[in-house]
Amino acid sequence: MADYEVPELKEYAVVPLPEDDTMKGLKPFVAKPDFQEALGYPGKKDETKENTYLLVDGWHDKAIDKMGDLLNRYRGFRVFMDSCVKCGACTDKCHYFLGTKDAKNMPVARQDLLRSVYRRYFTFAGKFFPKLVGARDLTEDVVEEWYSYFHQCSECRRCSVFCPYGIDTAEVTMAAREILAHIGRGTKYSNEIIGKVFTIGNNLGLPEKALANVLEGLEEDVEYDIEVEVKFPLDKKGADILLVTPSADFFAEPHIDGLIGYAKVFHATNTSWTLSTMASEAANFGLFIGSYENMQRISMRIRQAAEDLGVKRIVYGECGHAWRVGYSFLNTLAGPFDFLDQNYPIPQHICEFTLDKLEKGELNIDKSRNDDMTLTFHDSCNVARASGMGDKPGGQFTIPRAVIKHVCNNYVDMEKDTIHDATFCCGGGGGLLTDDLMEIRVKGILPRATALKNVTEEYGVTHMAAICAICKSQFTKVLPYYGFTMDQIVSVHQLVSNAIILEGQVDPED
Ligand code: SF4
Ligand code: SF4
Repeated sequence: MADYEVPELKEYAVVPLPEDDTMKGLKPFVAKPDFQEALGYPGKKDETKENTYLLVDGWHDKAIDKMGDLLNRYRGFRVFMDSCVKCGACTDKCHYFLGTKDAKNMPVARQDLLRSVYRRYFTFAGKFFPKLVGARDLTEDVVEEWYSYFHQCSECRRCSVFCPYGIDTAEVTMAAREILAHIGRGTKYSNEIIGKVFTIGNNLGLPEKALANVLEGLEEDVEYDIEVEVKFPLDKKGADILLVTPSADFFAEPHIDGLIGYAKVFHATNTSWTLSTMASEAANFGLFIGSYENMQRISMRIRQAAEDLGVKRIVYGECGHAWRVGYSFLNTLAGPFDFLDQNYPIPQHICEFTLDKLEKGELNIDKSRNDDMTLTFHDSCNVARASGMGDKPGGQFTIPRAVIKHVCNNYVDMEKDTIHDATFCCGGGGGLLTDDLMEIRVKGILPRATALKNVTEEYGVTHMAAICAICKSQFTKVLPYYGFTMDQIVSVHQLVSNAIILEGQVDPED
């Protein structure tokens, strides 16, 4: 199945002895100049070789200038560069280190790839006594090492939870990626996708007509299944709610079953809602590449859609990093949202919306319809460690679980040190969900797969639910390497969809 060794699943995650360079050279495809330029970055093609891209002219000084710019713009970045005391608390916290054994995948070592260059050019000791303080020159080899190891970090922030100084390796990775993009080393995967959002409106490049057809097809499918006309409105002016959701919800499995779940909840509660062509993508890969400007440009589409459609509220579908950008940054990036109804959270998560309706008894639920499953829940990194949900601390942990427990009889959590803010990444976040990085995705899923195997064996768990499009895509593709099946991964709103009974519904089994 794979031309590299897939780690063996053990009873508990074993901390390996670090080895040198086990993942050296693994890197994503470089973005071609067209994709770079669309995002405001330079690019240079090697005219002598096909599909080969060079560092841009003057790359060395441009990289150091960019690092200086980021140190001035982001105080946290400078603090992270200066404050590590090498206590070692983070070393065994990264799923990519646990899965690959590569010493440079220990968070502190990953940071040092950048810190060593920072010291050389931005500290007194590094300028005059570089060897004494572990400072090094920026060379082409260093750039290639950055390109490799800063794309073996999913920006999941697990390491920062355990760092006594709160050093956030995700921020260091974002800074490194932004410097790389400014010298011609953006990634094909992320930059091509961001370009599609700007030109077409979503990550998948799904044009308006195709989107309308998909939604029409979904209406027909649902009506065929349960004989109820559940609507999936698009660009409906004057609707109360604009739903922004990851475009994977429009076609991928199990994402699309989640979208059906949202629509059924809106239908059952007589809620006026709409999707939007302009904001047909909740995902915001500007976060992954560390670009404030691109993150803002993507976010502005949501504001524009809300204004054009005249909605009162914005609700986000199941997408982890989109929720982080929405919850933590949307107001700064695209606010103020004073034209929306201030009586509701701006934005609100679909799980909050649904839980509210469940608690008020507005949904007719038959939990036994999910009795063929025993569920567990995967906390997605960007929801768990970089945002909140609802009006109580920890809502991002309790609300999705409460929704599941309202619609399912059988639920078990995974081990404590693998959930909530200690959750392990799915292995495909942070812009790594691309086939050119399959090896790191397969190895990085190891701690999550171990925890899942344990609850499978001890409690008979059959399915794992998630509220992130990337987690769902990564799990369905990569968990089979560890003996699980693709259909063991479900959307939380797929469970809602199974259990909800709409007025006039004809049960397919009847
Ligand atoms: S942010 Fe996540 S992926 Fe990156 S070094 Fe820390 S634990 Fe590893
Ligand atoms: S836990 Fe924090 S201070 Fe300790 S080695 Fe890691 S980054 Fe440095």
